[in-house]
Amino acid sequence: MEQFRHTDVTGQRANPPNVFNQDKADHVAREAIYQSSDPEPEGVLVAEPERQKDQDVRLRPRRMTEIVGQSDVIERLQIAIDAARKRGEPLGHILFDGPPGLGKTTFATVIPEEMGTTVQMANGAALRAPKDLIPYLTNLEQGSVLFIDEIHRLPKSVEEYLYTAMEDFRIDIVLGEGVSARTLNLDLRPFTLIGATTRAGMLSGPLRDRFQIREHLGWYTLAELCEIVQRNALKLQVEVASDPATEIARRSRSTPRLANNRLLWVRDYAQSRASGNISLEVATAALQMIGIDTLGLDKQDRRYLDTLTRIFAGGPAGLEAIAHTMNVSSDTLEDEVEPFLLRSELILRTSRGRMATDKAYRHLGLNSGK
Ligand code: ADP
Repeated sequence: MEQFRHTDVTGQRANPPNVFNQDKADHVAREAIYQSSDPEPEGVLVAEPERQKDQDVRLRPRRMTEIVGQSDVIERLQIAIDAARKRGEPLGHILFDGPPGLGKTTFATVIPEEMGTTVQMANGAALRAPKDLIPYLTNLEQGSVLFIDEIHRLPKSVEEYLYTAMEDFRIDIVLGEGVSARTLNLDLRPFTLIGATTRAGMLSGPLRDRFQIREHLGWYTLAELCEIVQRNALKLQVEVASDPATEIARRSRSTPRLANNRLLWVRDYAQSRASGNISLEVATAALQMIGIDTLGLDKQDRRYLDTLTRIFAGGPAGLEAIAHTMNVSSDTLEDEVEPFLLRSELILRTSRGRMATDKAYRHLGLNSGK
C-alpha cells in the first residue's frame, strides 16, 4: 500500500491520522485470514503476513492492460474513464462486488492510475463514526479517489454522512458541544468514491443507488488463472511451464489471490526441495503438502464439507450451527468458504439451511447414504 500517494489539501504528502495504520492493520488481518486458509504444513515455515502483503503489492496489476480477464468490466470502465477525462470531470462513483480475491482492490488502485490521480484507502470496518471519515474527505483533491473496502460494514450514521458527500460534494461539521455547538457547512473537492463489498445484498438501497457504475466481478476461467500464474512467475523471476502453471491454476478455486498464494508456495517449495525447478510433479507435491486437493479446496473447505456431511448428516443445517461446530465465524464461512462450494455445486443453500450434494459426498470419498 506504501506505493499509493496520500496527498493533503495543500498538495503535500500526508497520511490521515491513525487511519492509515488502522487500514494497514486491517489489510494485514485480512491477509492473515487468507494465509490461514492455506494451512501450515508440519515443520514448514510459512510466509508471515507482512511478507505476504509485500508479495501481494508486488504482484498486483498497476494498469488496466495488466488486468487479466473481466474484459466486459474493463471495457465499460474504459468508456467511463475516457468520457470523464474528455469532460474534465471526476469519474462517477463506482461499486465493485464479488467474493474475496477477485480483483476489487486491484480495480480500485488501477482506476486512479489510469485517471492520473491519487487514491486514499479506507476500510468500512474502521470507520465507526462520521468523524472517522472527515480526514479522508477533507484530504480529497479535485477528481481524486476515495476507496472504501468492505463498504457494507459502514455503520448507518457514517453511511448517511456519505450521502451528501457523494451527491453534493459537501459535508456538515459540528464544532463545539451543547448550546455553543455550531454547524459548519464545508464544500469538498469533487471526487470519486469506489466502494468494494463481498455482500452486495447487505448494502442499503439509498447507498447502492448513489453509485453510478456498479460492477460485479465474477470467477476466473482456468485459462485466465493460468495466464495470471505465468505473468506473475515472470515478475517473481521463476520459470513455470504450461503444465505446472495449469495445475496451480486448477487448484486455485477460480480466484487470482489464491493463484498467487499457491504460486508463491510452489516457488518456495521448489527452491527448498527441488533446486528451483517447478515441474508438474513439484507443483503437485507442493500443493498436496499444504492440503490443497484436486478441486483446489483447502483444509478449511473440506472441514466444512466434513461437518455438513458427517455431523449434520448432509443437512439441511443452518449456517450458525455449522459455524459454531467448526468454531469459525459465520462471516468467514459465508464470505470465504461457501461461495466457491456453492459455485462448484458441492453444497446447496435452501430455505431450510445448507445441504451437501452427491458431488460433495463423492469428492470426500463417502457414501451419501441416500
Ligand atoms: P479483492 O479486493 O477482490 O479481495 P484483490 O484486488 O486484492 O481482491 O486481488 C488479490 C490479488 O489477486 C491482487 O493482488 C492481484 O495480484 C491478483 N488479481 C486480482 N484480480 C486480478 C486480475 N484480474 N488480473 C491479474 N491479477 C489479479
